[in-house]
Amino acid sequence: MRYDMKDFSLGFPAISMIDEGDATAVATAAVAAPRHGGPTTSASGEGDRHSRVVIVGSGPAGLTAAIYAARGNLAPIVIGGYVPGGQLMITSDVENFPGFPEGIQGPELMLKLREQAERFGSRLIDVDLERIDLSARPFHLWADGKEYTADSVIVATGASALWLGLDNETRLRGRGVSACATCDGFFFRGKSVAVVGGGDTALEEATFLTRFATSVTMIHRRDQFRGSKIMVQRAQDNPKVTTRMNTEVIDVLGDQVVTGLRLRDTLTGLESDEPMDGLFLAIGYKPNTDVFKDWLTVDDKGYLVVHDETGSDVEGVFIAGDVHDHRYRQAITAAADGCKAAIDAERWLESQGLAEAITASAW
Ligand code: NAP
Repeated sequence: MRYDMKDFSLGFPAISMIDEGDATAVATAAVAAPRHGGPTTSASGEGDRHSRVVIVGSGPAGLTAAIYAARGNLAPIVIGGYVPGGQLMITSDVENFPGFPEGIQGPELMLKLREQAERFGSRLIDVDLERIDLSARPFHLWADGKEYTADSVIVATGASALWLGLDNETRLRGRGVSACATCDGFFFRGKSVAVVGGGDTALEEATFLTRFATSVTMIHRRDQFRGSKIMVQRAQDNPKVTTRMNTEVIDVLGDQVVTGLRLRDTLTGLESDEPMDGLFLAIGYKPNTDVFKDWLTVDDKGYLVVHDETGSDVEGVFIAGDVHDHRYRQAITAAADGCKAAIDAERWLESQGLAEAITASAW
């Protein structure tokens, strides 16, 4: 999920180059900011570990589900991940989320959603879900060595950036290789960078990177971009952007940092080395479904399959956001999904005679 970006001014403390998987620094910088009031704060996990609803994921879908479930007096537990906040934590200006006419920084939006969820009694736990057992109710979940139980579960684990899978790409991540122009573009002032991909994300990131880099080379494996016409036009109109079509990156060169790329022409097979200071990957996303694969059906792209809006194969388990949505992938659609999942969970709990909250004694 990427959004229209206008300005790189996240106001974070200096962060060395990070990749999408290492967005912890960004996330921590944002969520560690003081929270404003509210009856509860993040749970230590030491209180009651059973909830009417456990929400897995803390992006727009998870936190919106938490707001609705908490306001429905379900006292949800949110297992939000070691890198809470989802993809918006590595997005700068979000200009298309309704209600913010001047736009809002992604991390700031997530902090507000988090505060709103906590204000109504959600307990947020910033650890990864390690294991789940959906064979019987209550469901069992394990995170950070602790066991939780839930009468219902909302899966809102989102999706993560894809990589090419080259050894040197992995070795040089954070040292010139990145999957997040928003996070790392700043470090490439006066440098030459390449962006791999032909979709809207690649086009958007290439245009964004021209604010810092002296030249941006778009490398795409086919002869046509997949992205929207307006984004293609915007990138092509930018004098700093050049395109290398029918080209793939077959190696990343450099000892300590990226110094170049080995490219192959997909039509002729000819290989060439190009000097380059940075490589940005923008080749799509992988839904975060690993923990659920034994229990819930995934489609041919690996996304969870949803029945009847938010339902899953397992009664009492609901699905929301990018973990199933490969069509819209927007913060607002994920948030709407979270709302629907919470309402569906609440109605289902009611049908089971389980609609009242379980309040942790530690609160
Ligand atoms: P995408 O549309 O799936 O595009 C991925 C691109 O990466 C494709 O061009 C694909 O090439 C290329 N690719 C995939 N695997 C590759 C590999 N192993 N090696 C080289 N290239 C590879 O993904 P996206 O750009 O992230 O966009 C996802 C969705 O979000 C889209 O619906 C998009 O419209 C939306 N989005 C919207 C905005 C906006 O409106 N501001 C911004 C960003 C994204 P092929 O073309 O050959 O398949």
